[in-house]
Amino acid sequence: MARDPRYDILFKPMKIGPHVAKNRFFQVAHCNGMGVKYPKSMAAMRAMKAEGGWGVICTEETEIHPTSDMSPLTEGRIWDAHDLPLYQRMTDGIHEHGALAGIQLSHTGHRDGCLYSREVPLSVAPYPITSMTYPAQARQMDLQDIRDYRRWHRDAAVRAADAGFDIVYAYCRANASLNGMFLSSKFNTRGDEYGGVLENRVRLLREVLEDMHDAVGDRCAIGLRYTVDEFRDVAGTTSPEEDRDIVSILADLPDLWDVNLRDWSRDSAPSRFYPEGAQEEFVSFVKKTVNKPVVGVGRFTSPDAMAAQIRRGVLDFIGAARPSIADPFLPSKIETGDIDKIRECIGCNICVSGDAMMVPLRCTQNPTMGEEYRKGWHPETVPPKSTDDTTLVIGSGPAGLEAALVLMKRGHTVVLAEKDAEFGGRVTRESRLPGLSEWARVRDHRLLQLNQNSNVTLYAQSELDAEAVLELGCAHVVLATGAKWRRDCVGRVHPQPLAIPDDVNLLTPDDIMAGTPCTGHVVIYDDDRYYMGSLLAEKLAVQGLDVTLVTPDANIAAWSSATLEQGLISQRLYGLGVQILEKYTLAEAGKGHIRLQHSENPAGVLSLDCDTIVPVTSKLPEDALYHALIARQSDWATHGVQSVTRIGDGLAPATIAAAVYAGHRYARELGVAPAEIQFNREFF
Ligand code: ADP
Ligand code: SF4
Repeated sequence: MARDPRYDILFKPMKIGPHVAKNRFFQVAHCNGMGVKYPKSMAAMRAMKAEGGWGVICTEETEIHPTSDMSPLTEGRIWDAHDLPLYQRMTDGIHEHGALAGIQLSHTGHRDGCLYSREVPLSVAPYPITSMTYPAQARQMDLQDIRDYRRWHRDAAVRAADAGFDIVYAYCRANASLNGMFLSSKFNTRGDEYGGVLENRVRLLREVLEDMHDAVGDRCAIGLRYTVDEFRDVAGTTSPEEDRDIVSILADLPDLWDVNLRDWSRDSAPSRFYPEGAQEEFVSFVKKTVNKPVVGVGRFTSPDAMAAQIRRGVLDFIGAARPSIADPFLPSKIETGDIDKIRECIGCNICVSGDAMMVPLRCTQNPTMGEEYRKGWHPETVPPKSTDDTTLVIGSGPAGLEAALVLMKRGHTVVLAEKDAEFGGRVTRESRLPGLSEWARVRDHRLLQLNQNSNVTLYAQSELDAEAVLELGCAHVVLATGAKWRRDCVGRVHPQPLAIPDDVNLLTPDDIMAGTPCTGHVVIYDDDRYYMGSLLAEKLAVQGLDVTLVTPDANIAAWSSATLEQGLISQRLYGLGVQILEKYTLAEAGKGHIRLQHSENPAGVLSLDCDTIVPVTSKLPEDALYHALIARQSDWATHGVQSVTRIGDGLAPATIAAAVYAGHRYARELGVAPAEIQFNREFF
């Protein structure tokens, strides 16, 4: 197919310093949990995006010197010449596809504790380390330290140019970079020529930019990643006027302005809280102030929204981290007119959790993300089928739909049976909860393609039992039958069922999502600690019910801090008047009341009136059909059945991302001998 002319503007080359970007698709710096630990994986992931058409591809934050050590965070490292071969590998992979490579040189001041290098951290003033509240402080840099820092930054820029980078960045984020800390009226309390009035506070960043121009300006474009303080006076890092003044002062010193927001939960804004393009009101002034190209982000997945940003003069380059993770081939799909095939980011921030957990990133929509090197997975191509056997997929949740899609792409004939009237399993149910409508993209992306292929037959309202499965006589049967929330409160706190009398009004999350009405005072007991408890609280509070959310954890929805949602969830629930009880476990549930026990204070017992109790603790796999089929194994050969496999929540309940991955893996590995399944580890 041909490109829609409305999107031509996205493919117009643009000059950045001494280089020309071939189009306006710009993968801005993003962490990935691979960097310094799994650099070949990081390089392969970036090269994949270049193959997918991104015009510029950047690293994550990259340490320039042992005093900028960000351990245990897994970012990049370019301390000395030893690091160059790995970065050369990355830039070669990017250049092979005609894209430009950028590196975000970073020194994070008092954010990080130098836990690997064991250097004494340096900062603008003697502040405590913020990352992981590590109990140490940075020392205040003196004028010699500042001269050293400038030299380290300059030397790192030279190394980056030697490694083949086309764009070298200075990083300026008030709470996460030395440059930003010096600039910040909140952090910069110095009395020397680097502190006080704005002209002094901006001095270091100006010098760093000038040093970089001197050192590598003929070979590289000098980029400035500048974070605007969206909270303005609240966080007090700069004021709105100061943001404008800073941009005016530095205006044409960098060759490229890369703008975003200070608070990471606003910058990588989850779709539960912010729509596509939510940064515009804060960053649009930059393009009006400078004469250099501007890149900005906004979880852009719609080519119309992207083209409009450029046409309306908001941005020159469409920056993307998450949309490029969900679909490394997004630009080439727009170019070839395959808009329908774009795997749109759903804004769930599971990718971000890779950084928090310090493991290779994963993505709900794109199961191949992070597997480019390790498993040799390509997001758009799969090996052709090795047999002509038909496969029966049972269940149309994320695991079943992804399995069916990949089997279809491999050329298999696929029959998919779903017992419900609607396809999508948990994704369909959960996407109806407050703020999660974008999550339905997990279903829609797959269903659209399955519906267009004549080798695939989809049956809704088709609950299969063992007899029906055998009668269908498909060679391979994959059960993606999902899971149900438990009624008996078994979870992290209660390894055994809690004795709950029959007359207690108890509803599970499945009951509520199915529309069972709730009444009176509802107590949600959340030992799951991810999103479900808080979403039910929000849904019921919006309906006007009196809701109490209880968790044994120190914070509600505690795991959501890994997806940057925890604070936003708290704010929303407090705003809705939900009563929050943290560090309490459910000791007893009786008719009309419950008893809670404080997890650390034996005397902390609370009795509450409770009309409806909703335990959100754990799930049980729906595996009765699997066991029934195993019991009939002696009949398989008569019916031509060769294999029966269970995947996703039906095997072990987990995230939607894990279910998609399970479906993908099953389909990719069907018919492949175990010895041929790749898992490349990285040995240095
Ligand atoms: P996962 O996250 O592993 O994909 P889901 O719970 O989202 O799991 O989806 C499982 C789907 O399987 C649900 O839509 C459910 O209705 C369907 N299902 C469960 N048992 C059967 C069965 N015996 N026959 C057909 N469909 C089934
Ligand atoms: Fe988007 Fe979620 Fe994938 Fe991250 S994990 S890129 S937020 S779909």
